[in-house]
Amino acid sequence: MRCQFCFAADTKVIDSRLGGEGDTVRRRRECTCCGERFTTYETAELVMPRIVKSDGSREPFDESKLCAGMLRALEKRPVSTEDIDAAVNKIKHRLRAAAEREIESPVLGEWVMDALRELDAVAYVRFASVYRSFQDVNAFREEIDRLESSPGMEESGAKK
Ligand SMILES: [Zn+2]
Repeated sequence: MRCQFCFAADTKVIDSRLGGEGDTVRRRRECTCCGERFTTYETAELVMPRIVKSDGSREPFDESKLCAGMLRALEKRPVSTEDIDAAVNKIKHRLRAAAEREIESPVLGEWVMDALRELDAVAYVRFASVYRSFQDVNAFREEIDRLESSPGMEESGAKK
């Protein structure tokens, strides 16, 4: 950490303590160059990448929007709230693990589809059909064919 007074590159930590509700570390630092002291606060802030939309605009990752989209696809499907929460957490984990400052929205969309595919085939098709807006009808058709021929689809289809 640079000195805030003389901007020397080297400062040493002379005291560290937990602040706030234990999620902040307060550090007292001393400049090895000018001897001035200052305090820094560090939080383990897990920064989510921003989402780059297809028109090039950027928006912050919005968990409620993600959940709303998934819940819409999962409406009246036999999937527990617990499983949905776990899927949302998995997507958030992937976002953080990507350690990128920005993620293209199609990448996020693919991750959501991955999650839904594991949860429920019908929800997956619903989401994919809206998400891809039938832009690529052939790919979508192939996806449905693939799902229909995969085991488990019959069962979940029967519950509908
Ligand atoms: Zn200094």
